Amino acid sequence: MDHALPRVTYSNVGTDFSKVFVRLATELRAAAGSAGKSIPNLIGGQADEGGARYLARSPIDGVELGSFFEAEPADVDRAVVAARAAFPDWAGRSWKERVALMRGVANLLSEYKFEVAADCIREVGKSFAEAMGEVEEAVDLVRYYSDQIEANDGFYRPLARAVPVEETSDVLRPYGVFAVIVPFNFPVALGIGMLAGAVLAGNAVVLKPSPQAGLTGAWLARLCAEAGLPDGVVNLVCGGASTGQALLEHPAVSGYAFIGSHAVGTHILRTVAAGAYNRPVIIEMGGKNPCYVTASAELDVAAEGVMRSAFGLQGQKCSSCSKVYVAREIYAEFLGKLTERTSALRIGAPRDASIFMGPVINAAAGERYARACAEAQRDGRIVSGGMRLSGGDFDGGVYVEPVIVEGLAANHHLNKDEYFLPFLSVQPFDHLEQAIADGNDTTYGLTAGTYAQDPAELDLFLDRAEAGALYANRASGATTGAWPGVQTFCGWKGSGVAGKGALGPYYVQQFMREQSRTIMRSVAKAG
Ligand code: NAD
Repeated sequence: MDHALPRVTYSNVGTDFSKVFVRLATELRAAAGSAGKSIPNLIGGQADEGGARYLARSPIDGVELGSFFEAEPADVDRAVVAARAAFPDWAGRSWKERVALMRGVANLLSEYKFEVAADCIREVGKSFAEAMGEVEEAVDLVRYYSDQIEANDGFYRPLARAVPVEETSDVLRPYGVFAVIVPFNFPVALGIGMLAGAVLAGNAVVLKPSPQAGLTGAWLARLCAEAGLPDGVVNLVCGGASTGQALLEHPAVSGYAFIGSHAVGTHILRTVAAGAYNRPVIIEMGGKNPCYVTASAELDVAAEGVMRSAFGLQGQKCSSCSKVYVAREIYAEFLGKLTERTSALRIGAPRDASIFMGPVINAAAGERYARACAEAQRDGRIVSGGMRLSGGDFDGGVYVEPVIVEGLAANHHLNKDEYFLPFLSVQPFDHLEQAIADGNDTTYGLTAGTYAQDPAELDLFLDRAEAGALYANRASGATTGAWPGVQTFCGWKGSGVAGKGALGPYYVQQFMREQSRTIMRSVAKAG
């Protein structure tokens, strides 16, 4: 690995990454040659081909990525049993040993970052910058969570003594086996983030990637094994909803970590709550993320940041900006700048770094796009975009234009629900306070942004916006770009449950339960 190359993050967009991207393009070409491999699951350290074989295809060009095995209840059971068997030894090791092994995973991920990013591009259709940023984020997530265990002395702390001869302490201890269920859009960072939280805390894991993202799921399992994690601590089961459902219904799973849609997250909460006893469910879900551009904003910065957050990764980020409220006096000027930037975006098969928008993930997303555009046309006005693209590379996947819409009623469902598409609704406002109230009026509360130089407007935004991650005046993204240890990422309202977020100092603790220990030292001696 070339340590001299700069690291891509979501924020350092002005940096010269040309050498990084040349290397990534080489890796991408090499990875294409390995298409069609069979990728087994990993159970108790053994390759496992239980379950029905299925093919995954790239959203970029429909080329076969590999064949995977959709784990059925019996396969899921074997994975849970393997994790259960590995748990006591793993939990019994010192936290220092666990941290050292997971730091090894981070180092390996960094070493293989080009290969992993290339597979992430192939299976998700990410741009070069998005894929490299994601893998770098994944590395930092493992390191940051390891730092948290160290900074908290393994979550052991002495407590006060009620009487001098009593020793009392408080310790956070693992639960057992965590099922980790991952969405398609950040399969590396979110997969390893949840996995690392669970494993660093002393749990064993059954990892279920999105059926679209088994290549990177297999990378994570493989790198954990290569770093020396004992067999059974990390198990991999591929598959979709039915595999996930089998995990939900398995009585020996001690807890669930899930990131994905509100519908599936809610289903998981209800299913687990109906079980024999309550188990921890760490859930992060979707977003409907607003941005407010005031008359005091730097409009070029605002247009750049909104464009990046609305259309980066084809609008398929939980933090994507999908609504922008603009002060009426600068509305026309801002919209002009936004549409100018948006029409200059390069859309295409992400085979080099010049492409900003790749394909959307699948045909269902394409159909959702067509329906949303038809409704926007009927109930508002499409300012720019709105067409599916065809011809050449575009025929290999579902490629769509970024859409900017105005004139939709405030309570229109396109303004309220998550669509997970490159679809941005713009509306003018007269009073910032009212705009923020309207932006808050959704079931979600993940991220929000503003562009405002006036300190009073900034304060109003920070005070009123109902979301776990707030951003102001960032050209790199209005509502996107969280980084481990730099921003925390906590879903409020329908975007989350725990009230504590990933990427931050309160994450790893969620994978542990508290125990106090009181020992009367002198009684035995006296006897
Ligand atoms: P999804 O909810 O469709 O799927 C997520 C995972 O759940 C997949 O692994 C899927 O196979 C699994 N699953 C589906 N049905 C299941 C069931 N019945 N039981 C158990 N598991 C089941 O989400 P997606 O389309 O992969 O990802 C997009 C969604 O994820 C968006 O809503 C997005 O906002 C959200 N997301 C949230 C965050 C966050 O941090 N808040 C980050 C990324 C994505």
